[in-house]
Amino acid sequence: MTESHDRDLQKPSGGEVGRRASEIAGGEEPTGLAKAFAPVAGFGVTISTLFRPVVTEQYPFEKLPTEPRYHGRHQLNYHPDGLEKCIGCELCAWACPADAIYVEAGNNTPEAQYAPGERYGKVYQINYLRCIFCGMCIEACPTRALTMTNEFELAGTTREEMIFTKDQLLAPVREGMLAAPHPMVEGTTDKDYYQGSVTGPTTEQVEWVRERRPDDETLEAADKAARRADATSGGTR
Ligand code: SF4
Ligand code: SF4
Repeated sequence: MTESHDRDLQKPSGGEVGRRASEIAGGEEPTGLAKAFAPVAGFGVTISTLFRPVVTEQYPFEKLPTEPRYHGRHQLNYHPDGLEKCIGCELCAWACPADAIYVEAGNNTPEAQYAPGERYGKVYQINYLRCIFCGMCIEACPTRALTMTNEFELAGTTREEMIFTKDQLLAPVREGMLAAPHPMVEGTTDKDYYQGSVTGPTTEQVEWVRERRPDDETLEAADKAARRADATSGGTR
């Protein structure tokens, strides 16, 4: 018989497996009271939670506001005179990691000017089955045309329904804006628009629309806003 075989025979039976967990961890043996409560100790968190205020939200019966910077549905915005901010540059589509945006640009013409400068977003689509609401697209947009709202109720029954088109994404035309298309404010360039020099529609723009689209719903409010601005500026706009 070898020397190592002799040592093996002298080991206590069971080795580490046979020792109590508390001994291995180097802890104290529980006292009598701790032993008594040990079976229910695991319910401590559950029982203490019973006495805390309820945080469950009763959605959809009660809709709580989201955080102000919550990333919800996208929105395409306008300049103060009603021209669209989107210039169809496609930077948002290139920045999107989920390939959820499709943009096709169109050329502005004197009879159909939708955005300041040469081009506008003719086709604009966002596929909400792909979008992960990361916000990279709005960071990439050079004109702040694209922003995100707090709206999160996005559901549909077909794939087509979940592809939002430009008319769904455009923000509502605000009171006092003049719906596009119409010419840019006289004597301005697209740079003036980006620098915030255009503050609303002018009477020239209103007259242009009145000649071509006399039934346009935004005409009257835009006319009032333009006259008010003229009066304030003393006709120097
Ligand atoms: S939020 Fe993100 S995933 Fe959604 S369209 Fe924008 S870039 Fe793409
Ligand atoms: S939303 Fe912005 S980034 Fe996208 S095409 Fe329009 S201007 Fe370019």
